[in-house]
Amino acid sequence: MAEQKTIFARIIDREIPAEIVHEDDLCLAFNDVNPQAPVHVLVIPKKPIVSLAEITAEDTELIGHLFQVVRQLAEQHNLQGGFRTIINTGDEGGQTVPHLHIHLLGGRSLSWPPG
Ligand code: 5GP
Repeated sequence: MAEQKTIFARIIDREIPAEIVHEDDLCLAFNDVNPQAPVHVLVIPKKPIVSLAEITAEDTELIGHLFQVVRQLAEQHNLQGGFRTIINTGDEGGQTVPHLHIHLLGGRSLSWPPG
């Protein structure tokens, strides 16, 4: 059976709309549909990697690139005061979409520890 396309793969392929804030050859960034802070952007690789638990040595440059994009987006969103990045991994990590994504949260004071 062919694997089901994730919602994020469908956003990459423009099958469903999203507020895209960055795109390049390797990745896409868009606003989270259910924002948990004034700035809540998801940065995803175009390569369909399921989660951080699935990355390989081949992905090293790609992962570095994703974080460079996070830094650029933090700058563009004026998050000089700080921001948070989160990568939920697997069921117990709270991951709900099986396509690797980095949450970029900012624009308010964020508490710790998480739930
Ligand atoms: P996770 O829980 O897997 O770490 O995060 C998935 C995130 O994707 C959630 O914050 C959720 O609000 C967001 N999300 C789920 N479906 C969509 C969608 O169709 N569009 C957008 N923009 N975000 C989505």
